[in-house]
Amino acid sequence: MTGCSLCPRRCGIDRTGAPGACGAGEELKVGSIVIHRGEEPPLVKGAGSGAVFFSGCPLKCVYCQNRQISHDAAGRVLTGEELAGYLLLLQEQGCSNINLVSPTHFAPRIIQALDLARAKGLDLPVMLNSSGYESIESLTRWRDQAHLYLMDLKYGDNETGRMLSRVNDYWDRAREAVAHLWETVGPLRLDEEGRARSGLVVRHLVLPGMRSNPFAVLEFLAGLSLEIPVSVMSQYNPRTYTGDMPEMKRALLPDEYDAVLERAVDMGFSTIFAQELDAFSAYTPDFQSEVPFGDYHRIL
Ligand code: SF4
Repeated sequence: MTGCSLCPRRCGIDRTGAPGACGAGEELKVGSIVIHRGEEPPLVKGAGSGAVFFSGCPLKCVYCQNRQISHDAAGRVLTGEELAGYLLLLQEQGCSNINLVSPTHFAPRIIQALDLARAKGLDLPVMLNSSGYESIESLTRWRDQAHLYLMDLKYGDNETGRMLSRVNDYWDRAREAVAHLWETVGPLRLDEEGRARSGLVVRHLVLPGMRSNPFAVLEFLAGLSLEIPVSVMSQYNPRTYTGDMPEMKRALLPDEYDAVLERAVDMGFSTIFAQELDAFSAYTPDFQSEVPFGDYHRIL
């Protein structure tokens, strides 16, 4: 935590004194823990996915739907022992995996908690649910801990990352991260009951006016492999956008979403996950509520 370089921003800041650009200080902070049933189907078999949402985020996306915990870093400080206890509770509740949402800036603390939980019987697959803004070094840290990787590939160019997420090199870092994971982790593997056990899934949220450059994202992925499962998401919510670009103040149009889905089909991807166009109403959480995601069971 001193001279922090846990994410590609490499602030070099001493987090024992002040928080970094991610809003995270020295202590492990969790925004919420829920049994999540809204991830891609193989990830939520059984009771659902045991999702731990960490407070703070290295990106500052101007349309973030988790703003309360990502930008404002709201949440509760937990010790490693406490987090380990919650992970075991998620296993007891029948979750099919541990879903670490935006964990990068707390990686050493989480890994410590996972070790503690494993020593007490945790044997679920662990999923890294990431913005995609990762360094190879940060991914290597998880090599012995994580089995599933749910990675965003938000934009097909650096300029959009600069405008919408406030980092200069999103496309460069995220491409390297996805290519590295494809090489080291490979395709999604399911058990006999259809539960994901290991592998990579890449998500792309289509933005209004195609601002996210989705065709460049698909072309890049196709260049790696058509076996990469692609999740084409429609859940953009204009109500959470705080910038001044006119097209971002409206909902995604059906034609825009369909065009991206059709392109993915035409390119020949073997696995494509899709959403309903009104998905944003179900997936915009309120972390101040007792039930941040509607009826998903809240543990913390
Ligand atoms: S994890 Fe936070 S403090 Fe560390 S380099 Fe990234 S933004 Fe900076």
